[in-house]
Amino acid sequence: MNVIKRVDEAKGFFSKGEWGFIATMGALHRGHLALVEKARAENESVVVSIFVNPLQFNDPKDYQGYPDVFERDLELLKSMGVDAVFKPSPDEIYPDDLNFKISEGCFSEPMEGVHRPGHFLGMLTVVLKLLLILKPRKTYFGEKDYQQYLLVKKMARAFFLDTKVIPVPIVRDEFDLPLSSRHVHLSEDGLKLAREISKIFLLTDTAEEFMNFLKTKPVEIDYVEKHWGRLFTVYRVEGVRLLDNKRLEEVGHESII
Ligand code: AMP
Repeated sequence: MNVIKRVDEAKGFFSKGEWGFIATMGALHRGHLALVEKARAENESVVVSIFVNPLQFNDPKDYQGYPDVFERDLELLKSMGVDAVFKPSPDEIYPDDLNFKISEGCFSEPMEGVHRPGHFLGMLTVVLKLLLILKPRKTYFGEKDYQQYLLVKKMARAFFLDTKVIPVPIVRDEFDLPLSSRHVHLSEDGLKLAREISKIFLLTDTAEEFMNFLKTKPVEIDYVEKHWGRLFTVYRVEGVRLLDNKRLEEVGHESII
């Protein structure tokens, strides 16, 4: 497995062959690995990027505390048959000192757009750069971050990128909690509460019903909202931000993409 850290090296290396690509911030778990498995099955070669993007964190504590387990991630990716890892430094990715940024004026506005100002600006900017460097045929995004998936899909179309953006369903633990790198910050009681909430989320059909349930729990609520035929929620347990979403209606998904 090749580990590539420089942009000039990456541009030569990835120009050959047909690559499937997964963008990550590392601290990999089974959720990420589902994306890797799908990419493995659908492409000649697979590249995974590991880059904790300073531009998409609106909370400096969240950025500084983001788990870093690079050696373990490498072992995991190697065992999954990944061909290459791209791990650039922020200086490699932002030679322009962050002067250029990609903004979107519609799908980025609700939900994460309200609660994490600047997050999508940072995310879209880095994803566009990664797609231009690696030029993958197919790019995989998890439905756990559904708004992100939608924005990348629409950005690829808006900028005529030659990559197909493919969604991968949410991977949950055996108690229905969507897997997340941030769970390491939860206590045992916090994890138990998060699992209880996830179970109810999957059983609830309206934003109002789920909001009423959440209000009875010791959590901070960012939002419970319906968009694009899906129900979305973000709440914090012990200060840890947990996301979930699910499809409510058959229509919605296809009509907005
Ligand atoms: P991250 O490292 O959190 O930026 O995530 C990298 C990619 O993995 C994103 O496309 C996420 O949506 C996806 N991902 C993370 N957790 C999960 C999960 N539990 N199920 C499915 N996809 C996930």
